[in-house]
Amino acid sequence: MTVLPMWNEAGAKWTFQGNGRLITASAITVRGILNHVMENLDEEDGRAVIPLGQGDPSTFPCFRTALVAEDAVVDAVRSAEFNCYAPTVGILPARRAIADHLSRDLPYKLSPDDVYLTIGGTQAIEVVVTALARPGANILLPRPGYPCYVARAALCGLEVRYFDLLPDKGWEVDLERVEDLADANTVAMVMINPGNPCGTVFSYQHLKEIAETARKLGIMVIADEVYDHLAFRDTPFVPMGVFASITPVLTVGSLSKRWIVPGWRLGWVATNDPNGFLKDTGVVESIVGFLNVSPDPATFVQAAIPRILERTGKEFFSKVLCMLREASDICYDKIREMPCLVCPKKPEGSMFAMVKLDSSLLEDIEDDLDFCVKLAREESVVVLPGIALGMKNWLRITFAVEPSSLQDGLERMKAFCQRHVKK
Ligand SMILES: *Cc1c(COP(=O)(O)O)cnc(C)c1O
Repeated sequence: MTVLPMWNEAGAKWTFQGNGRLITASAITVRGILNHVMENLDEEDGRAVIPLGQGDPSTFPCFRTALVAEDAVVDAVRSAEFNCYAPTVGILPARRAIADHLSRDLPYKLSPDDVYLTIGGTQAIEVVVTALARPGANILLPRPGYPCYVARAALCGLEVRYFDLLPDKGWEVDLERVEDLADANTVAMVMINPGNPCGTVFSYQHLKEIAETARKLGIMVIADEVYDHLAFRDTPFVPMGVFASITPVLTVGSLSKRWIVPGWRLGWVATNDPNGFLKDTGVVESIVGFLNVSPDPATFVQAAIPRILERTGKEFFSKVLCMLREASDICYDKIREMPCLVCPKKPEGSMFAMVKLDSSLLEDIEDDLDFCVKLAREESVVVLPGIALGMKNWLRITFAVEPSSLQDGLERMKAFCQRHVKK
């Protein structure tokens, strides 16, 4: 940080300085760490950079969104009816469409009043974390997890406690640890399903156990379901809201992943609360309070929501699932050809595989960050080091990439590992 002179020319004392919390918070985001890895890319390397770090397949033509979704946005713009500000919580037709869309998988019906539109899933996380961050409170987060929760909690002074996802148990939640961690000031536990970074899809039974544990502890569940329905093997996606009669659930959702349009910045928070606990505790009031002082998603994107949700065809979704399944097969099989990497569980959903790095088999590679920095420099392949997710000596690889690029990237990674293997 720059140290300012004590006194300015007008003779007044300079009193401002940067907010240190922001500097700490941004250091632990995926973007912050990937930027650091990418600073090491070699501009002289004539080959294309292969991005296996961030999960954003939208840049590949084969992952283009549905035509009906594009048309819905274009028509909303052309109508000139949505150049206005939107209401705090979002426009009613969009909230109704999301409520109906989510209710299809629930044993009760959500009302439009249960849905709050946000600027992507990222702002939905900001909403729920901030709404719960009363002084002295703490929140339970999964490790490995999604660093945005950590950063957001740091920004609003909410204490974070970690429970583990267990690689030997298919990355299921260590529920005993959850019980040990919680105390009277614990407000919620976060779960991400389908999982980022592990590519897991939790079973109905495990989700029920999570809800029952939360009930026992008197806390709610924040269910990050931005990868909802991106489950491409045998385990079906079950929304946590199914168990909301056991304990209240705040669902974080987004168009970004399932429709592959992260740039459209449209997400939501849904309150799954058939017993009405959240209203009594002021959580709903806090959510609205937060939204009252923050900007809204673009009104024309909100206006496009009903058509996007109601008309996107089954073929689009099955095509995406099919591509993700094939890509995850390629990824899993190739990783098995690299002795220094172990993937404890074949991905069943989302866009990621979590892979353990055994750096003792490699020469001159210290740890996961060193691996990623040198891989970027030597092979122009970008992978996320596990430290970004609280897991040293692990790597997160996204397979949501055009298949030929994925093949190419993994081949380069294999060549890198072979070159660095201890003789
Ligand atoms: C991508 C992602 C988000 C953020 O969603 P956006 O709509 O892109 O803001 C939230 N949670 C998880 C687990 C994600 O992977």
